[in-house]
Amino acid sequence: MHIRSEVQSIGAGVMTLLLAFPVNTFARDRSKTIQQAIDGGRAKNVILFLGDGMGDSEITIARNYHVGAAGRLVMDTLPLTGAYTTYAVEESNPSLPNYVTDSAASGTGWSTGHKTSNGRISTVAGANYISPIPTILELAKQAGYLTGDVSTAELTDATPAVLASHINARGCQGPADMSACGIYKKSNGGPGSIAEQLVDHKVDVLLGGGLQRFAQKTDAGPTVVDQAKSLGYTVVTDAAGLSSVSKGQRVLGLFNSGNMSLEWSGQLALPGNSGPQKCLENQRPSNEPSLADMTRKALELLDRSEGNGKWPGNGLPGFFLQVEGASIDKQDHAENPCGQIGETIAFDEAIAVGLAYAKSHPDTLIVVTADHAHTSQIVDPGTSHPGSVSILTTADGANMYVSYATEPHGVSQDHTGSQLRIAAQGPQAANVVGVTDQTDLFHTFARALGLE
Ligand SMILES: [Mg+2]
Ligand SMILES: [Zn+2]
Repeated sequence: MHIRSEVQSIGAGVMTLLLAFPVNTFARDRSKTIQQAIDGGRAKNVILFLGDGMGDSEITIARNYHVGAAGRLVMDTLPLTGAYTTYAVEESNPSLPNYVTDSAASGTGWSTGHKTSNGRISTVAGANYISPIPTILELAKQAGYLTGDVSTAELTDATPAVLASHINARGCQGPADMSACGIYKKSNGGPGSIAEQLVDHKVDVLLGGGLQRFAQKTDAGPTVVDQAKSLGYTVVTDAAGLSSVSKGQRVLGLFNSGNMSLEWSGQLALPGNSGPQKCLENQRPSNEPSLADMTRKALELLDRSEGNGKWPGNGLPGFFLQVEGASIDKQDHAENPCGQIGETIAFDEAIAVGLAYAKSHPDTLIVVTADHAHTSQIVDPGTSHPGSVSILTTADGANMYVSYATEPHGVSQDHTGSQLRIAAQGPQAANVVGVTDQTDLFHTFARALGLE
């Protein structure tokens, strides 16, 4: 039902039917549907869809703009939903919370099941020694699962990094970026930069941006790309190259020197009001696959079901895959509502690819969540809104005022500290219901994969 009818009584016994604004109603009893969605069994595959900085505000802004307030995004359709807390801890005193996490500490939470301090990649808060904490990707790989890590950011950015590297500072992305990570340098006996560690982990599918980090020379001389090739990677740098990769090949796809290009553009938010705007869809550079394309290819390469869609099927362990919509966060920092919305919609399209896969592979746990809340807010047009504001004309034909006010205009906006949506379907999905913590997600994954 997309039409809600409201019955209003006018005078004694006289009823008038008013057709109100259409809403997507759940007025029917859904108890059975929810019961049927609960599956406490094992999963063959796990896919984590992670929207960086995709708080409830960011989801609502994208929904209002793209499909209207009563519409629903693909990510809104997962059957089991809860909220989770995301706080980090203080580096100087890890018994104290830091209420506003960054992507490194929050990613460490679901990746390892442990809290750490902002800036750390799957290492212990306060440690001045090499302090790796085992990650879900490492444990899955040890148990024979295939693994994948896909992002629209540089692959060495914090969110993809937390699964397959351990370092004290997130900035140490390539071998030439190691000034804050001396003890982790390979020439000092450490595991090396994030780029080096990602390929040393032999993650089966690595797709994203960040070619500049992998083009750097390692302490031993060759570049990280050379190192990857010597470890058996097929290295591709464009969409055509990616489509030619076949099953059984280990692939490193680097489609941009830095972060991948944005899907949409528009005017930045400004202090005071600029006029209402509609966003523009960018022409994607032909060498860059979309996040949905990368997800589709990752699933093709990682799929081990061979037509058998119920665990244990052919008995082979399946895969663990993380897919990150990275630049929702980056464009929120930049007060760029169109950039932010376009990335959210592109992320939603990647989720659609995952849900289509799960339809024929119901032994797949899918989780859709974010790593921290962010600055953008839908505000009342009538208020004085002291921050930067953008007015967007939505799919409803109405004007939505979006405010960025955690920093002055022109300064990178900040993350915020509220809890986040976590939604899921498939085996173990019921464990996201209620209010959990980011670190609980590690255990949900581990149980689904039979690792604990
Ligand atoms: Mg990220
Ligand atoms: Zn951020």
